[in-house]
Amino acid sequence: MKVTLHGGAGGQVTGSAYHVQTGRANLLVDFGMFQGMANAHDHNRVPAELDVGKLDAVLLTHAHLDHTGRLPLLVHEGYTGPVFATPATIDITNLILHDSAKVQAQDLARLNRRRERAGEDPVAPLYGPAEVGQLMALAQPVPYDRPVDVAPGVRAWFLEAGHLLGSASIRLEVDEGERRRTVVFSGDLGPKGAPILRDAECVREPADAVFLESTYGDHDHRPFADTLAEFREVLAKAVEAKGKILVPTFAVGRAQLMLVLLAVFFRRRELPRFPVFLDSPMAAEASRIYLDHPELFDEELTALNGERPLRADLETLTITTTADESRTINDVPGPCLVLAGAGMCNAGRILHHLRQNLWKPETRVLIVGYQSEGTLGRQLVEGAKHVSIFGEKIVVRARVHTMGGFSAHAGQTDLLAWFDCLAASRPRVFLTHGEPRGREGLARQIQERYGIKAELPALGEVLDLHPRGQ
Ligand SMILES: [Zn+2]
Repeated sequence: MKVTLHGGAGGQVTGSAYHVQTGRANLLVDFGMFQGMANAHDHNRVPAELDVGKLDAVLLTHAHLDHTGRLPLLVHEGYTGPVFATPATIDITNLILHDSAKVQAQDLARLNRRRERAGEDPVAPLYGPAEVGQLMALAQPVPYDRPVDVAPGVRAWFLEAGHLLGSASIRLEVDEGERRRTVVFSGDLGPKGAPILRDAECVREPADAVFLESTYGDHDHRPFADTLAEFREVLAKAVEAKGKILVPTFAVGRAQLMLVLLAVFFRRRELPRFPVFLDSPMAAEASRIYLDHPELFDEELTALNGERPLRADLETLTITTTADESRTINDVPGPCLVLAGAGMCNAGRILHHLRQNLWKPETRVLIVGYQSEGTLGRQLVEGAKHVSIFGEKIVVRARVHTMGGFSAHAGQTDLLAWFDCLAASRPRVFLTHGEPRGREGLARQIQERYGIKAELPALGEVLDLHPRGQ
């Protein structure tokens, strides 16, 4: 049995893709897009070594673009086999991939106008809505915690990963001749105790090999309770200042977390009720998908909803879909809170709100997600006094608050707690989905605690999973 890493390896976080080859079957676990690197375009293809014609099945851990973003390329190359995923992952993947096709078309329209003026040939998008539609027609829903025959001699179990609605770790049992081998893919793991989703479930059966994510393998996040207290405090002061509270947010996951937290603050009278705008059609759609899957909520949210639906505490929430509706927010006086994308302020409606409000001292900007280098969000976090939005110079008089504790990823302690269930079976451990710092920090802990030397595979590396010495 062999596993080839076509992404999320060699110190990279994005592009997750594992090609599993057994004596009888070929499958892919995730096929994500590379993001945020200069040469991402060169990587965002089907690797030459991957024979799509031989693939029996594709399995998805969760819907994030860095785990699903290359999937439509498979149908382009003739793939017609099944794509196994939990029902919520199928719903969110459909939303995210259609959005990705739309964003690619918009970005390329701009680029191609420039190329045309320069006398250059236009660049084609990776895929369009038609390929996304064809791919989604191949989706096969799987339940959590039950064996699914996914390919000849291969059974899969999907276990709650607590990272995103529908997210799963995947355990594969592979029959090869007389031997049975077990390989576990953690997928992205969520932090313990975070609201909305149940915590990640660890794998109690023994395993021969484990692929473990290591995004935050070198440290822990600030405790969630502290972040929550700070969030409430900042909101209370912002309401007193009577300004607009702008929250740049990812449409899937973070936006729903913000809405749930606001609803709970309002219900418990920990904050006075104020107008809230969800200014993102995609976040509105994602929220609808969350509401369609109450079976995935954790006990706390289930109990809160059982008392009275949380929506009842959000009567001050307005969902703005059209651009005209969005513009009406300009005339709404503070205090009010605006949730809008993009999460890193590099595109989307949040730019309009920032242009309208950053120069006002009563405005508050709440940064609740990661801001990568080179984005407007990062400039604000780093205290820029002036920024440029749509080519216009804007002075920053607003107060910017950065809250680092809202991560959807497990920190070091939670990663080790998840691995602890598997450690007794002494599996080979491969650390993926992490920058060098995260991988090395986690590898040191695994060595110290369990005496297991974790391996740090490179991009494109082929791992032979036959037991050593055979
Ligand atoms: Zn993820």
